[in-house]
Amino acid sequence: MPDFTAYDHPVLAVPCPTCRAAPGLWCRCSSGHMAFDLHAARRAEAARQFIAQHGDWAAIIHAAPGWLIDPRGRARH
Ligand SMILES: [Zn+2]
Repeated sequence: MPDFTAYDHPVLAVPCPTCRAAPGLWCRCSSGHMAFDLHAARRAEAARQFIAQHGDWAAIIHAAPGWLIDPRGRARH
């Protein structure tokens, strides 16, 4: 099962059907250089597997690691 949180970009969790990039590796264009964007077929496949794994209502959000300041955190006591 792909882990959509393991890589810099969630789509990297699945291999690319277009350029055969392995999970975790960015897409390559036919010249062998890094592609500007991930291939559409890979993005579609990642979306399909994400929905199959997590359900229609799931979303993936980019969360900053580490500490967060809540300016009103002490007001809840
Ligand atoms: Zn690709």
